[in-house]
Amino acid sequence: MTGMNRQIAVSQTLALNTPGRVPFSVEFMPPRDDAAEERLWNAAEAFHDLGVSFASVTYGAGGGTRERTLRVAERLATKPLTALVHMTLVNHTTEELQDMLRGYAERGLTNLLALRGDPPGDPNAPWVKTEGGLEYAKELIELVREMPECENFDIGIASFPEGHYRAPDLDADTAFTLEKLRAGAQYSITQMFFDIDHYLRLRDRLARADREHGSKPIIPGLMPITSLRSVRRQMELAGASLPSDLERRLLDAANGDEVKNKDAIREVGIEVTTEMAERLIAEGAPDLHFMTMNNVRATQEVLHNLGMAPAWGPDLGHDMVR
Ligand SMILES: Cc1cc2nc3c(=O)[nH]c(=O)nc-3n(C[C@H](O)[C@H](O)[C@H](O)COP(=O)(O)OP(=O)(O)OC[C@H]3O[C@@H](n4cnc5c(N)ncnc54)[C@H](O)[C@@H]3O)c2cc1C
Repeated sequence: MTGMNRQIAVSQTLALNTPGRVPFSVEFMPPRDDAAEERLWNAAEAFHDLGVSFASVTYGAGGGTRERTLRVAERLATKPLTALVHMTLVNHTTEELQDMLRGYAERGLTNLLALRGDPPGDPNAPWVKTEGGLEYAKELIELVREMPECENFDIGIASFPEGHYRAPDLDADTAFTLEKLRAGAQYSITQMFFDIDHYLRLRDRLARADREHGSKPIIPGLMPITSLRSVRRQMELAGASLPSDLERRLLDAANGDEVKNKDAIREVGIEVTTEMAERLIAEGAPDLHFMTMNNVRATQEVLHNLGMAPAWGPDLGHDMVR
């Protein structure tokens, strides 16, 4: 644990909210090569300087990324940043999950996002539980709660403004999300969405169904829009829908040629993301969680528009901010 700060619980960072200023957080992905590695640490420095409240690290299927997520989270914590490690059930037995949890506990990495994950390769393929493993994210929360080494863990979960694509309907989705909150999760981070009403309805559904657990903080996940291609990809991956007025604005900016007018699309995309963030702030969102893909610039521009960051450029102290 050399050089590492004691990690603040993510749920506490939400409570420490400075009056008049909504905290923001970022999602990072473990890098796959040297260039990506440099980009990640550049981003970590930049967001550190901008006062990010916590940085989450995604977790992919397969053995290799297990080490990568751990290594990135460990280094983030030395910055010091509050690191939130994502963990999934994919390809792991319960013993392996316990081993990993012990590894995090030993390193003082006490913030966990408990997830099930998707089948590797094709997220839409039927889910098959690993032999000797777990079926639902809720069971991972229960596992953590049974381990004395993990008694100070602060646990978050995924929530889905439009309902999870495998849930039979929104009522079932609400019930399953509540089960995770009742099992000991303190907050949720949402799948990305483009229609604020979906976020507000999720919040209403949960609070109505269970005043105590359903009112735990719901952190909106935001992906700054930089191209039509990225929006379409996210809609496909996350099952998020695009409100027609927003689609119209982006298509108008494209003016029939996405490549030629990419700068205009980006400009509108950042404007739209800023408006989404403004509305979320007005609606009392506890934090804005930016899915950064390890890039700084788009998030920085949105934060700047919100009055939460200086203008992009050398005044930030980074020559390589992207
Ligand atoms: C903020 C965020 C971060 C993410 N990060 C990652 C990541 O780092 N790595 C990664 O691989 N994936 C990640 N994901 C994707 C996530 O793993 C998938 O969306 C996955 O399909 C669902 O995970 P979950 O934790 O919500 O699963 P669960 O809560 O276990 O739910 C899985 C499915 O089972 C249903 N269900 C739940 N409980 C029951 C029950 N008792 N009976 C019947 N059905 C039930 C749910 O409705 C859902 O359809 C992330 C998602 C979000 C929103």
